[in-house]
Amino acid sequence: MKVLVINAGSSSLKYQLYDMREETVMASGRVERIGMDSSILTHEVPGRQEVRDVSEILDHVTAVKRVVDILVDPQHGVLSAINEIQAVGHRVVHGGESFKQSVIVTPEVKLEIRRLFDLAPLHNPAHMMGISAVEANLPNVEQVVVFDTAFHQTMPPTAYLYPIPMVLYRRHKIRRYGFHGTSHHYVSDQAAQLLGKPLSEVKMVSCHIGNGASVTAIKEGQSVDTSMGLTPLEGLMMGTRSGDIDPAIVPFTMNKEELTLSEVNSMLNKHSGLLAISGISSDMREIVQGMDEGDKNAQLAFDMYVYRLRKYIGAYAAAMNGLDVLIFTAGVGENSDRLRASVCEGLTFLGIELDEELNKKRSKEARYISTENSRIKVLVVPTNEELLIARDTYALVQQAKQA
Ligand code: ADP
Repeated sequence: MKVLVINAGSSSLKYQLYDMREETVMASGRVERIGMDSSILTHEVPGRQEVRDVSEILDHVTAVKRVVDILVDPQHGVLSAINEIQAVGHRVVHGGESFKQSVIVTPEVKLEIRRLFDLAPLHNPAHMMGISAVEANLPNVEQVVVFDTAFHQTMPPTAYLYPIPMVLYRRHKIRRYGFHGTSHHYVSDQAAQLLGKPLSEVKMVSCHIGNGASVTAIKEGQSVDTSMGLTPLEGLMMGTRSGDIDPAIVPFTMNKEELTLSEVNSMLNKHSGLLAISGISSDMREIVQGMDEGDKNAQLAFDMYVYRLRKYIGAYAAAMNGLDVLIFTAGVGENSDRLRASVCEGLTFLGIELDEELNKKRSKEARYISTENSRIKVLVVPTNEELLIARDTYALVQQAKQA
């Protein structure tokens, strides 16, 4: 079965086409600047040169049409006919409390995703445009939605409720949802495979550290707590997001600086984190370079970032009354040996012993970076959210066919 995975944003659309027999990527690419002048389609087929096409793409329906056209194009395509695409899987950021796992798209599912627009106003409407655009271009193909929040729906109320008036939860569903669930789920499965142990026997902390960053406590294969909350602003210090702060800073700053709500929101989401403290960049590579050149603010930003991450790992070891495995993933987690070494340096009391050589080795494979004697195993596991979306899509569509 060939499965097309789509991640639709408001002005962009990323895609990957999988052949599920061997889980191979046949083609991938993205459409950028949808609805603006000179939209760009970038298309890649393994082993061939990348294709770039600049044209006018005014909406998501046209964007999906261009993707389908290039997939069957005699020169650049990989399919002989459009009906070779048998299912489409979509990434959807917010599934609220309604979606505890991936589901096949039905009119009821679409209605529910629309009801959740309030909780993810920047993301869910764009995902819906992606779903409708596929309906318009591939009307007979089954679609599946895979939610970033679904993996965290196993959290108990002690972890997901905020100590604020309960009426706010009842009325507006204000609670912790958590994000990056597809990634935390994927890397915890991969880690269990590498360890050769069933998920039911291990307590894991998974650190997804990219531009956005979150930590999850995983017990018996289930998320029991996670650092992002109602929105992806809570938790760790990130590239441009503050993560945890005293909530009283919001009214205090609004008052002192005469800021509006949207200005404070923008300050905390776009002008905080590594960028704010270093004054250089939100990109960890530039922070490390700054540190190496003796920049004190870059060093402070790095130290704060590490300190806050380390505190969460300790907190989650306490939340689970133990820890067996620590996982690093995503852009920074997979690539920055400096970050991993600094985080682990302060966790020796837990029984973490990093192997310096293994930590420095670069590889695209899941691997150990702790010593053989380390009581807690430390792993780097490259994330692959698209593959998990393709797998869920394939499984659900196969099930539906057999039913
Ligand atoms: P996103 O959250 O946008 O999906 P990624 O998981 O792709 O982000 O992570 C992107 C970040 O990874 C970049 O901003 C950069 O800081 C970091 N990164 C990538 N390579 C390295 C590296 N070699 N060393 C340190 N950081 C890196």
